[in-house]
Amino acid sequence: MLVGVIIADSWLAEAACVLGCRVGMIPFMYLGLPIGGEPRRLSFWEPVVNRIRSRLNVWKSRFLSFGGRLVLLKSVLTSLSVYALSFFKAPSVGKTVCMRKEAGGLGVRKLREFNEALLGKWCWRALVDKTGLWYRVLAARYGEHVGRVREGGRHGSTWWREIVRLRDAEGAEGEMGWFAAGVERRVGNGVDTFFWIDLWLGGIPLSVRFRRLFDLSQHKLKTVAEMRDFGWGSGGAAWLWRRQLWVWEEEMVVECRGLLSNIVLQNTGADKWVWWHDPGGGYTVRGAYNLLTRTDMVVEDDPTDLIWHKQVPTKVSILAWRLLRNRLPTKDNLVRRHVITPDAHFCVTGCGEVETAQHLFLSCSVFAPLWSSLRAWIGIYSADPLLLRDHCVQFSHSSGDLRARRSFLQLLWLCSVWVVWQERNNRLFKAKESTVHQLLEKIKVHSLWWMKAYNKHICHNSHMWWSSPLVCLSIA
Ligand SMILES: [Zn+2]
Repeated sequence: MLVGVIIADSWLAEAACVLGCRVGMIPFMYLGLPIGGEPRRLSFWEPVVNRIRSRLNVWKSRFLSFGGRLVLLKSVLTSLSVYALSFFKAPSVGKTVCMRKEAGGLGVRKLREFNEALLGKWCWRALVDKTGLWYRVLAARYGEHVGRVREGGRHGSTWWREIVRLRDAEGAEGEMGWFAAGVERRVGNGVDTFFWIDLWLGGIPLSVRFRRLFDLSQHKLKTVAEMRDFGWGSGGAAWLWRRQLWVWEEEMVVECRGLLSNIVLQNTGADKWVWWHDPGGGYTVRGAYNLLTRTDMVVEDDPTDLIWHKQVPTKVSILAWRLLRNRLPTKDNLVRRHVITPDAHFCVTGCGEVETAQHLFLSCSVFAPLWSSLRAWIGIYSADPLLLRDHCVQFSHSSGDLRARRSFLQLLWLCSVWVVWQERNNRLFKAKESTVHQLLEKIKVHSLWWMKAYNKHICHNSHMWWSSPLVCLSIA
């Protein structure tokens, strides 16, 4: 069968005649998949639906038990529609597609998530399977830019455009999509990772976090290894700019250097991609589906989104980011890295417990009361979950879903972990101690500063700030 694409019919007929084959039309079916159609239209899915229906009809037998029919359904559904769904983005409609009454099982509501999880697999393969033929075809067709196949514009295939949309997922407010937020570059020798553009440090690409520096950099497309070789310490040649930096830009460089201070490249290991939700096993459709259908809608509640708060200094967000991934130099981590000996792993407060992140920030008998004092000040009530990630999410939501309140509590949570970590360091390195009451005062002062830096008209009546912050911010 010969199919013409933007070719005159007469020419096509002639060619078909010479080659001795039929002239085909778009869309046509190949391996049970419609090729060349418009997957956003319902009619595109008709052949898929029909095939499912015909398979079921053949077997529609009163001799089959309900259980038997279910098994049959599952096998037909998995072999046919999963195949189609893994290639194309289905239109989101409340009815039909392949979910008629007889199809049951997979609820319509979840179909979209399932579809996305399947498409996500292609995004993942596009990262880890670059030697595959399919990838090379795409790269040749659309071109590559910083290790990624370009979108291809309006003339690109619908299939590829949907994959790219999922991969790049720039939401209305510029937040990262679930796929982009779920992958991360684990850097080994750094030769295969773009310093600015890849997400490898700090939970967000450096080009996004330090957008201004990226704009000014003369090394936009250098790899991590190249930047290291240039020298990314103070005054290093990695920091080559298009013009002299302003003071506040210099401060950003200092911040960025702070992030890099712990990075040691391993000359033996290659860089690789990890799927953050399963760092050992890589992307699975099941895992992604679970992620997308979790009842507490991860996209909104993922602490990773909560920590990049626009009123909070970047260094604080970075601290929280490291904290939530257990990458702070807490003593248990230092023991694991053989920096200190196991007998030196005790909490700085003298409470007698091992200093883990969870202990220090949540369960230490000296610091834990800070959370209840903080809640008493705001006038909210909630428990303290045992896991830091849960704690972060729950605390931010403990005053209901009003956006402004959530944003404020989020800011306070970040401020609190910042203050606790400073206190820990003061005790450890400067032998200076503050009481819980003094720590709470610090939280009040810092959080007010941060908000005032962002909007100086906020909270005129600072008396009221000390007694009832929600009233003061008019979000009570
Ligand atoms: Zn302790």
